[in-house]
Amino acid sequence: EFIPLSSLLEKVSVKFQRIMPPTIQFSTDIQENIQLLGDASKIQELLYILLDNAIRYTNSGKITLTLLKNQDIVKITVTDSGMGITDQELPLVFERFYRSDTARQRNGTGLGLAIAKTIVEQHNGKIYATSQFGKGTTFHIEFPL
Ligand code: ATP
Repeated sequence: EFIPLSSLLEKVSVKFQRIMPPTIQFSTDIQENIQLLGDASKIQELLYILLDNAIRYTNSGKITLTLLKNQDIVKITVTDSGMGITDQELPLVFERFYRSDTARQRNGTGLGLAIAKTIVEQHNGKIYATSQFGKGTTFHIEFPL
């Protein structure tokens, strides 16, 4: 089924805006009228996982959600200005039950990103993270059209 991805992201943004801590500025850049073949509830879960992490690992600063379409790919990014992830840990964060030492002091199971990766792969997409430790992290998701 075709998911109205742009309106789904708008809807999720409104929800997250309401629970955003006052120390975090949340903004979006969502291109209109983008559709994707897939499962809307799973894509919503994917967004929840990434935005929930962004809030959890950012004490204060900015979180941005973007959606854009190129010729043949749809790209979603979630960027935060939080604690970041070290180069050593970056390849491990999508593993089941992996949690960094700093993250261990917080709640969580270490399953979120493994689930996110499964959802992306079920839609033939790919997910990866770029990060600067102490500065912030971006999760990139690309779906083929
Ligand atoms: P949960 O399963 O409840 O989400 P979790 O956040 O520990 O728990 P994942 O979502 O799988 O589990 O994330 C794995 C690890 O990746 C986290 O423990 C944390 O170390 C790191 N991580 C994930 N997102 C971020 C982020 N936005 N900034 C910094 N580190 C992150």
